[in-house]
Amino acid sequence: MAPRTTIFWFRRDLRLEDNPALLEAVRVGDGDVVATFVIDDAFVRPAGATRVAFLRATLSSLDQSLDGALTVLAGDPAEQLGILADAVRAVDVFATRDFGPLGRSRDDRVLGALATRGIAVHFIDSPYVVAPGTVRTKSGSPCRVFGAFRRGWELELRPEPLSAPEGVRWRQALSSSLDELSIRSGAARPAFFGDLPDGVAPSMILAGEAPAHQHLANFAARVDRYGEERNLPGLDSTSRLSVYVRFGSLHPRQVLAAVDGLSQGRAVFQSQLGWREFYADVLFHRPDSVRRVLQPSFEHLRVDTDARAVERFQTWARGETGFPLVDAGMRQLLREGWMHNRVRMVAASFLVKHLHLDWRWGARWFMWRLIDADLASNQHGWQWTAGTGTDAAPFHRIFNPTLQAQRFDPEGTYVRRYIPELADVPAPQCLNPGAREGLLTPDGYAPAMLDAALERNEALARFAESRELARVGP
Ligand code: FAD
Repeated sequence: MAPRTTIFWFRRDLRLEDNPALLEAVRVGDGDVVATFVIDDAFVRPAGATRVAFLRATLSSLDQSLDGALTVLAGDPAEQLGILADAVRAVDVFATRDFGPLGRSRDDRVLGALATRGIAVHFIDSPYVVAPGTVRTKSGSPCRVFGAFRRGWELELRPEPLSAPEGVRWRQALSSSLDELSIRSGAARPAFFGDLPDGVAPSMILAGEAPAHQHLANFAARVDRYGEERNLPGLDSTSRLSVYVRFGSLHPRQVLAAVDGLSQGRAVFQSQLGWREFYADVLFHRPDSVRRVLQPSFEHLRVDTDARAVERFQTWARGETGFPLVDAGMRQLLREGWMHNRVRMVAASFLVKHLHLDWRWGARWFMWRLIDADLASNQHGWQWTAGTGTDAAPFHRIFNPTLQAQRFDPEGTYVRRYIPELADVPAPQCLNPGAREGLLTPDGYAPAMLDAALERNEALARFAESRELARVGP
């Protein structure tokens, strides 16, 4: 039988190395492959300009690796892939399996629509070391807490990463390149081709597979210090690999292989990647957890929603709360589209437990601004911090934003980097600028918007009330 062209549909796996679905497309097509990416509004709409710019840059880099043969389409993938398959006479489409709720329903639709045209869609591998749904408790049920998941996850085989396919004849089809599409669609697709807002850095890191590998190698050389340093935002010593993993410039298998070995730092780092897989697993079993609390006793938690609440939300989002660690984080998010994990927790906790706002407001803002935004990690990171998620002891965990700053940024390095008004204020005053024993609030920096101790008590009262309501019924 004559070899037949296959289509490889890139999604969250924008790389050539260690891509089992791509290798299969090359094998079946005997080297004759059309590589495509479909810009689907349903997926681009929730992404802010910074993440979309990073995606564009990643696609450009991928296109170069394919000798300019990436076929970029825009529209409904069910329709676009059908048109492409007809044009190149392909009957097989390959893609890496998507486990998110939106991706799964899109894939079901694509599968059905293409089947009616006699085209088979093959979903292979996953963006995880262990596919969501695989790890179970001894009794066979999904894991509810990280400890149980991690034990099962660590037992799963992790095959060595695979090489990039060789001898591929990449075929450009429908002459649709990123540049042409950008010119043709012009203002019609501002979400994808729009400019970055003023004052926003495109990204602190370079997009694409080769820069991702370089970045990984640099981090692997210092991973042994990760355990001690990862909570100190001023050192900027975490891997910052999340955006590469999110777009699939790197598979987590490759990341784990690069940091393989025995040390406390390596063990902690591997465990953090485990959290990503745990949250994907939770989302797989509980797709409703995108919006719905995982702990039923907090279903009726009272949150503020009036006009003043909206104003408070905006103050938080602008990084003007008067609590330096929260503000530095929110400004880092605005400027770089990224925020240190410790600060994400403190900023999220502040929104829920000091401002008494709905965690979904904050989660949505993060999804819009983060370049590494990932539905599973974000929604469950928010639920964990809000106390409504998978944390085994969430109730009393209320981060004091000032104590967190004093503990994790004692020199004020991080705070002063992102808050120019505090740049010349020494530590410890810059960590608590409004304190009576410290300096007066420096010119231009907002005074604390609330009394943290009072609001902590209010949060505890609301949590207790919610529990009681769940017990007796609303
Ligand atoms: P490192 O500390 O170097 O960790 C290595 C990798 O492990 C990360 O790249 C990431 O893939 C994974 N990881 C680490 N911590 C976590 C965690 N707590 N949960 C899940 N995965 C983790 N992560 C995202 O990738 N996308 C998000 O949208 C996201 N939203 C979050 C929202 C909140 C409220 C919180 C508290 C956390 C969120 N996280 C999210 C998790 C974490 O903050 C980021 O993964 C981490 O800050 C990325 O930086 P890094 O690559 O330097 O991490």
